[in-house]
Amino acid sequence: MFDDVDDLFTLATACIGPTLGQVEQNLRASGYAPEQVDTILMTHLHPDHVCGLVDENGEAVYPNAELRASEGDADFWLDEERSQALPEEERAFFTMAQEAVAPYQEAGRFSPFAPGDELLMGIVARDAHGHTPGHASFMLNSGDDAMLVWGDVVHSYGVQFADPSVAIEFDSDPEQAVHTREAVLERAVDEKHWVAGAHMPFPGIGHIVEDEEGYRWLPIEFAPIARDSE
Ligand SMILES: [Zn+2]
Repeated sequence: MFDDVDDLFTLATACIGPTLGQVEQNLRASGYAPEQVDTILMTHLHPDHVCGLVDENGEAVYPNAELRASEGDADFWLDEERSQALPEEERAFFTMAQEAVAPYQEAGRFSPFAPGDELLMGIVARDAHGHTPGHASFMLNSGDDAMLVWGDVVHSYGVQFADPSVAIEFDSDPEQAVHTREAVLERAVDEKHWVAGAHMPFPGIGHIVEDEEGYRWLPIEFAPIARDSE
């Protein structure tokens, strides 16, 4: 996958390539400052999800935010004894998670959650483990609308919608990840809620329907935003 650990660190420093690591800039472009963020919910603690939490000096990018991750992922990735016992080439993901969470932990602004917890008004954590030991999804409810922010339930929609039983090398427990994916897809079809996925193609939000074999992704349609008349 990667030639050596140094390559992986180099990639992570640049937030895994030049086209990623743009959350802060995109947030500012949408009219918000990182100081205004009061809560950050992590689906899991893999490097492609955590590395934007800190800047190149290891400082928190979001100085006022409470960082939340599942107990299962916190117990696993932040366990220094566990990572020290691993061969060096398997330690990189642990080190990156620990370094990203550290400034929040040191400031007393890191708190793990359990599946079923209501984290903010209308946002409930759902167990979706398999991809990582504590991988979680977030169900957002507002009136009659609902959207599942599912994290990494699907990595390759081109492959895993047609055949959800295909796992990815990064899964901590591939068999459980497959069970989770099948259950989450089935429920999304039944409940007809929106889905937002980290690795889904732009715009990353859509609905799921059954297909002849497997499932199909129906992306949300984009249209100009109606402006208030001045
Ligand atoms: Zn992941």
